[in-house]
Amino acid sequence: MLLSYWHATLNQPPLTGIDLPPTAGIVVVGAGVVGAATALWLARAGLKPLIIDRYGPAAGASGNNGGILAAGLAENYLAATARYGAATARDLYALSLAGQRLMVELIQQEQIECDLRLHGNLNFAIGEAQLTLAGATVAALQADGFPAQLLDRDAAQELVSIPLGAAVSGARFNPAAGTVHSGRLVYGLIAAAQRYGAQCSWGVTLQRIVVTNNSLRLETDRRSIEVAAAIVAVNAWSGEVLPELAQQIQMVRGQMLCTAPVAPFIACGFDASLTSTGEYGQQVPTSQVLFGGCRAIAPNNDVGVPAGEVSPEVQGALETGLGRLFPTLAGITIERRWSGAMAFTSDYLPIVYHPYSGLFAVGGFSGHGMPFAAIIGRYLAEAVQTGIFPNALTPLRIDRPTLQT
Ligand SMILES: Cc1cc2nc3c(=O)[nH]c(=O)nc-3n(C[C@H](O)[C@H](O)[C@H](O)COP(=O)(O)OP(=O)(O)OC[C@H]3O[C@@H](n4cnc5c(N)ncnc54)[C@H](O)[C@@H]3O)c2cc1C
Repeated sequence: MLLSYWHATLNQPPLTGIDLPPTAGIVVVGAGVVGAATALWLARAGLKPLIIDRYGPAAGASGNNGGILAAGLAENYLAATARYGAATARDLYALSLAGQRLMVELIQQEQIECDLRLHGNLNFAIGEAQLTLAGATVAALQADGFPAQLLDRDAAQELVSIPLGAAVSGARFNPAAGTVHSGRLVYGLIAAAQRYGAQCSWGVTLQRIVVTNNSLRLETDRRSIEVAAAIVAVNAWSGEVLPELAQQIQMVRGQMLCTAPVAPFIACGFDASLTSTGEYGQQVPTSQVLFGGCRAIAPNNDVGVPAGEVSPEVQGALETGLGRLFPTLAGITIERRWSGAMAFTSDYLPIVYHPYSGLFAVGGFSGHGMPFAAIIGRYLAEAVQTGIFPNALTPLRIDRPTLQT
């Protein structure tokens, strides 16, 4: 397994764990950013959740991602409006904006040292057609009251202290965005949950959920555990635990690289559509550039490919792409490469699933889960106590019209 920058630079004491008990109140399955945030809300409410994970904290997408915490949807706002309808797209964007702000609050309140930097995000436009689209997107976002700015090439260049590539025509700037150290964020959320009474069992794989009269039985590779309620947040692996989700949530490999350190040249996160599946990155405080994307270069866009290894064609495209955005970085030494398991749905929205009393599941963030983790986690923590599906999450229900089965 290739080690991501986040895991390689974690510098955190291990989070304590206990042997899996035979019974528990509320169990959170999956210690990614979503499970971690959910457990924190539960623990803050005094419920002492038990978190279990097949490996440990941030083992999935959350510890292998780009670390961009940006309000917005996986899809461009105009495409989202066409797909979900104007009112739903607006509600979803508002949910992501509230979620991005809530995560910032959690980080600050719990004093999580995860290199949070709130400098926004630059979505570079490549060529005139993309700049026109950026302008229309900014106009639509502003009309709906969301923060967004259109920058021409000169204005975008002002935010970047090395020359932009010739193809960069401008940018859409999202001020409601930041960057984090993804690994330390997940560790910090779980450590905070532990301070409020949460416990963890590491190295436990949930295999099956059996509904009994008054409780749920979670069958794991260690032992079975009877629980009053469970929230399953295993994202790309949702279909392994709940087979009815296997068709809806597909594992997709996302690849990243990390350059050697370069003098600081950009403070905000950035993304672009050099290929149809998109690219994203940030320069971390230790001065390396993390850059990911280019799935379009892989056979079948790396859909269905498990994470772990990387492929030379995608990694080569990432190096070329980085040089197209920032020509002085062409040929730079690459320090490390890794991949992570994204989870895609057919309409690029996560699924919140409530198949029976006491059980909620969430997954399918389609490469854009960071702004949703805190707010969906809070709604799920409330829902598991009340048994009521949250109204705000209605657009994410599994029976929504835009989700193909
Ligand atoms: C390369 C890459 C770049 C990305 N960049 C960004 C970005 O910059 N910004 C952004 O918003 N999003 C990004 N994403 C997406 C984002 O990382 C995810 O949406 C988010 O991390 C999902 O969090 P999660 O907690 O739902 O899932 P995960 O982080 O995948 O966590 C799931 C956990 O469940 C555990 N698990 C799985 N099966 C079982 C089981 N049967 N029993 C017990 N435990 C189990 C796993 O070990 C894992 O720890 C990126 C993803 C990738 C892969």
